[in-house]
Amino acid sequence: MEQRAQSGFSKKLLQYLNDSPTAYHAVENAAAHLRENGYQELKETEKWVLEQGGRYFVTKNGSCIIAFAIGDGSPAEKGFRIIGAHTDSPGLKIKPDACTVTPDGYVKVNVEIYGGVILSTWFDRPLALAGRVIVREGRGLREKLVRIHKPVLMIPNLCIHFHREVNDKCSYNKQTEMLPFLSMKKENVEKGDYLLCLIEEETGIKREDILDHELFLYEYQEGIFAGREGEFISASRIDDLAMVYAGLTALTESRDGGSSYKVFAAFDNEEVGSASAQGARSGFLLHTLDRICKNLGLTEEEYFQAVASSTSISADTAHAVHPNYSDRHDPESRPVLGGGPVIKYSASQRYSTTAVGAAHFMEICARAGVPCQKFVNRNDIAGGSTIGPAISSLTTIPTVDIGIPILAMHSVREFGAAADNVYTEMAFQAYYEEREEFGDKDGV
Ligand code: ZN
Repeated sequence: MEQRAQSGFSKKLLQYLNDSPTAYHAVENAAAHLRENGYQELKETEKWVLEQGGRYFVTKNGSCIIAFAIGDGSPAEKGFRIIGAHTDSPGLKIKPDACTVTPDGYVKVNVEIYGGVILSTWFDRPLALAGRVIVREGRGLREKLVRIHKPVLMIPNLCIHFHREVNDKCSYNKQTEMLPFLSMKKENVEKGDYLLCLIEEETGIKREDILDHELFLYEYQEGIFAGREGEFISASRIDDLAMVYAGLTALTESRDGGSSYKVFAAFDNEEVGSASAQGARSGFLLHTLDRICKNLGLTEEEYFQAVASSTSISADTAHAVHPNYSDRHDPESRPVLGGGPVIKYSASQRYSTTAVGAAHFMEICARAGVPCQKFVNRNDIAGGSTIGPAISSLTTIPTVDIGIPILAMHSVREFGAAADNVYTEMAFQAYYEEREEFGDKDGV
């Protein structure tokens, strides 16, 4: 596995992480990968004409994507095999009125905290800027992706001499201490123009045409292989673009699963609760499944059969045991880096795994020759959640929560083992290639 960990797959994964600084870029790159592999783009607003054996994808808000491959039978018999992940990552988002000029002449950028960020990790790192701008074009509006891949921003730490307790307590005021610094004040530049001038200079988009923006900061330094053997990955946005990439490549690399329908969905806004039009709590997935069935001429009754015959995997990163904080894990539930994908359990349903779903995933891993691990939180640590409960409750499709184990989750730079990504992609391929429906419809 060490050799496979440094395989073409891991290199391409690292490239995908580096090329996708925001959810918009993650979706754009996913769409390019799908087109290269024969998938045809559908527009939500246009009439769909789907064909047996066809491969398609549709996007929402430029930050959410659903791709599917139509099998050779009716979904009423074998259902859909769904893998879901999320395109967003915690970070710093630029506020609408972006710039502040301090009395000392510094130009600071006003940011909003997006999701559960480990704030300290954003200090003293050259930061770049990416996202989308909405521009006026003729009588209409147009969305344009932008990426200023230059170290234009920085949040410097306060020196230890003014802050001797810095190593004893690590708390930051989200409003006043997280503002990156862009430049020194210039004569004849209006406060509102510093950011717009930068965008105009770097992208050629005229600042007077920019009506609004959704821009995020990201770490300028790219992700790398790390460790004695290069067996680890140190990169931004492993949560959850590593699982997006594994699901996406499993979709395009797997043999067609005969009569079952393969679906891959990557949603936005998981890190802030998934309640948006492009999030997992929207109707987008269920509407798409419904639309596929109706387009292929299924009756309403057959649509309900299709949904009831489907299974789903919610793929999101999991907590590896940290060698310096090993007491934060349950004594018997201790996933490690390199040990394979982790099945996540929660009695309170913060993860949607049932024993049936877990058993199914274990069987898939066994068939693929992939090890797998289990995780459950300590009872005195609440832990996080995923898109799993949203998908399972909205669609009623049984969903198992799994993911690669990582360290430093929600740091600007996360840490995982290359091998776990390879293992997970192998398991996903085996899931998509499964020819028989799981279990007995009268039983489990
Ligand atoms: Zn996640």
